[in-house]
Amino acid sequence: MERIGVLALQGAFVEHIALLRRLGVEAFPVRLRQELRKLDGLIIPGGESTTIGWLMQEFRLLEPVRKLAGQGFPIMGTCAGMILLARRVLGLNLEPLGAMDMDVRRNAFGRQVDSFETDLEIPVIGAPPFHAVFIRAPFIERVGDGVEILARLPDGTGIAARQGKMVALAFHPELTNDLRLHSYFLGIVRGDVER
Ligand code: GLN
Repeated sequence: MERIGVLALQGAFVEHIALLRRLGVEAFPVRLRQELRKLDGLIIPGGESTTIGWLMQEFRLLEPVRKLAGQGFPIMGTCAGMILLARRVLGLNLEPLGAMDMDVRRNAFGRQVDSFETDLEIPVIGAPPFHAVFIRAPFIERVGDGVEILARLPDGTGIAARQGKMVALAFHPELTNDLRLHSYFLGIVRGDVER
């Protein structure tokens, strides 16, 4: 059975763990660097990227996670997690992991619509559309050649991407009952989903 760790320093980690368990995998919180050792995949949840980044530094997790990412380890980042995976972030006062060749903008949707829900077409998971919850979400400003955009808003804004075994989502799939994106990530962990 796959063992998936969810970074549990701050934010919506409990929801990810519950959802992964519904998919029948072993899922548990990660707070210590030695807990990274026996994993098949890692999720960096939503929350506050500045806080999570700072706590990763305090808990000495930043370098080991950066190293894992550099080795092609499966990592999925949602919302603040996507921000931390990026190479460059507009509006973040710490160095992100730089794991994916993309630039993102924090709190990108502005005050009027800073939180919203919408149904997204995500070709890699097929029909029906995925009901996505955006909470003070980032969006993707630029991606490099190795990064595939998995979903866009109707105006073309990129809000989900994949690079190798890493997946970044600007929204919160753990806050819905739809297991398809977590299943997609597990497929990547198992090696069934190839590019
Ligand atoms: N606005 C948050 C940040 O910049 C992300 C919000 C979220 O994870 N829901 O870190």
